[in-house]
Amino acid sequence: MKAAILTVGTELVRGEIVDENAAWLASRLTSLGIDVVERCSVGDEKDRIAAAMTRLASQADVLLVTGGLGPTADDVTTEAAALALGVPLETDPAVLERIRQRWAARGRPMPPNNERQAMRPAGSRPIANPTGTAPGFSVTLGGCRVHVLPGVPSEMHRMYTEGVLPELSRSAPRNAHLVSLRVYGLAESEIDDRLADIERLEPGVRLGFRVRYPEVEVTIAARAENAAVAAVRAHAVASMVRARLGDAVYGEDGERLAAVVGRALRDRGWRLAVAESCTGGLLGALITSVPGSSDYLLLDAVVYSNASKQRVLGVPDELLRACGAVSAEVAQAMAEGALRVAGADVAVAVTGIAGPGGGTDGKPVGTVWLALATTGEATRVEHRLFHGDRERIQQAAAHAALWLVGRAASARPTVSGERI
Ligand code: ATP
Ligand code: MG
Repeated sequence: MKAAILTVGTELVRGEIVDENAAWLASRLTSLGIDVVERCSVGDEKDRIAAAMTRLASQADVLLVTGGLGPTADDVTTEAAALALGVPLETDPAVLERIRQRWAARGRPMPPNNERQAMRPAGSRPIANPTGTAPGFSVTLGGCRVHVLPGVPSEMHRMYTEGVLPELSRSAPRNAHLVSLRVYGLAESEIDDRLADIERLEPGVRLGFRVRYPEVEVTIAARAENAAVAAVRAHAVASMVRARLGDAVYGEDGERLAAVVGRALRDRGWRLAVAESCTGGLLGALITSVPGSSDYLLLDAVVYSNASKQRVLGVPDELLRACGAVSAEVAQAMAEGALRVAGADVAVAVTGIAGPGGGTDGKPVGTVWLALATTGEATRVEHRLFHGDRERIQQAAAHAALWLVGRAASARPTVSGERI
């Protein structure tokens, strides 16, 4: 079964927004065992949209279209579909009434241009939009089933799941299974190198890599006679991948490093304090992007100046002067200060030179010192040298700090020097 995706919007083709809808739909269709053969974007022009629909419909069994269903004059996808189908538009009285009620509920009369949203190509089936005004529709164009959805991602996701997926599932081959692993600490090329022969050894399995710097997602897509067999194969290959990449694999199914580290902290019953300089709050933002992080995060001290390193965390002035803010000694003092100030079980500190200015021969741009202090053991300090622009160095430094915390939290506790 072949699918194509058409996303509509002048902002898309001009590069003003990133086409998240196409990526989202492509991964959903792939996981159903449907081959996505083409993805294409066009601006808000009726003739162009109609031509793209006709062309894609002639090549695929199913076509998903998003965008341009709204009430404004630049939303012309519905008219384009009618043009491609060669049928007139019809007003759906039930949809019109629902739109009218939505406006009435806000105490305002419906502007006349909203009536356009109740129009659909004759013969189409409506797809309800529970969270917005623009409904979608399904039609058959040539031999292709076409599903047209709004552009707003949250509305589109729900309508796909509730209004398209049930129909697709009935005809999809459902012979595929996808496992995704999250990797940290290895470059994409190193991962590729270690996994290079797997596709040859395992016919029907495809590996994919996606970099979300500094993390890499490795996807294992298996196809077999049915979904259950495909799942067994995908998981077998996932075990091979884990064995070859070792500790670098930290999670599965899209879970970010901050979420895995958060779970390790919670499981251990540890509360965390953060002291960050060159990452300027990024480390705290990563940690707090995980729902429920208030269970374990006590403090995020963004101490950008030497004065605040002293005042907030008690880093001695002599140390700052003798060693410089980017040093092992200051990183250690920051972590120990944060641990004490917050009354935490574990504290991490990061101080470095994110650039582009500020580097010296002894401390080039990308130099980062990390420190991890716990109540039980001696503070650990690590030196790293990252490459790239400011954003990359900040991301790398924040993730390295997260990794340190995660490793400490998931290490088995020691009792009188012996591992238990
Ligand atoms: P509306 O009623 O909001 O006008 P619509 O179906 O006409 O809905 P568009 O006008 O095409 O949708 O897009 C609305 C918004 O949804 C865009 O401004 C954009 O932020 C987002 N959007 C649209 N298409 C995409 C896409 N392919 N990927 C990510 N976001 C998108
Ligand atoms: Mg619009």
